[in-house]
Amino acid sequence: MDQAPETTISQMTYCHGCSKPLHITAVACPQCGSPQRQGRASPPNTQLPPEKSKVTAGILALLLGGIGIHKFYTGAWGWGIVYIVLCLTYIPALVALVEGIRYLTLKQPEFAQKAARMDGPFAFLW
Ligand SMILES: [Zn+2]
Repeated sequence: MDQAPETTISQMTYCHGCSKPLHITAVACPQCGSPQRQGRASPPNTQLPPEKSKVTAGILALLLGGIGIHKFYTGAWGWGIVYIVLCLTYIPALVALVEGIRYLTLKQPEFAQKAARMDGPFAFLW
């Protein structure tokens, strides 16, 4: 028979392999050796897109800003198209240079918050 566990029932789970009761912190079942996965693998906010990186956006703006790559990265694809259309004028490259420096001087949480608030292809991240 199973050993009587002295822990409360809330700390118990059941083996995925043999359905015997296990302590919740057990890495593997002592009965059958089946590895146990803990429930921490699924945070509730898995629907959220990954946070945008200010470093990625800044470097994209500095290197490829003349064709608006950083705009596509931050979701402002409308501006991205404008930058591509105007790229031969070098104006987008100059604006992107300033934007890239701006992104890099922002704090990462600040940048991520602004990036998350972008609503639509012509939103401007500043
Ligand atoms: Zn088992």
